[in-house]
Amino acid sequence: MGVCIPPHAAVSWGAGRDERRDAKAAHSVGTCTLEPRGYARLVRSGEQITELDEFRRALASEDGVIVIQDRVRPAPIAHRPRCVYVKERWFIEKILSNYGKNGRYYWFTRVESARSRLGADPCSTCLPG
Ligand SMILES: [Zn+2]
Repeated sequence: MGVCIPPHAAVSWGAGRDERRDAKAAHSVGTCTLEPRGYARLVRSGEQITELDEFRRALASEDGVIVIQDRVRPAPIAHRPRCVYVKERWFIEKILSNYGKNGRYYWFTRVESARSRLGADPCSTCLPG
């Protein structure tokens, strides 16, 4: 169980509205015990992340890799969700404000899949070796 961040509330997919509201309340007082599950049901491995809530769930999942494809780079880079190079602000800037003109974000369960599908290189900071 990692650090609890607000998107977990929305991650309890399939929960009723009251349960989600309770989860949200628990987050605000730091007592949330929800596991970051459900993300894989919303965005499958290899799919593009195009919405902020998808991005937040990817961060909350703590599993898998977020692949950032940048127009000015030859190869996309795969990052762990916790990497310093994965920032909500940059996602908003690149994907939401610029309509993905300069880059794309993807989510994969495994870095190997990102490599074979997109030719992604592992980030030297969060996925060394
Ligand atoms: Zn990284």
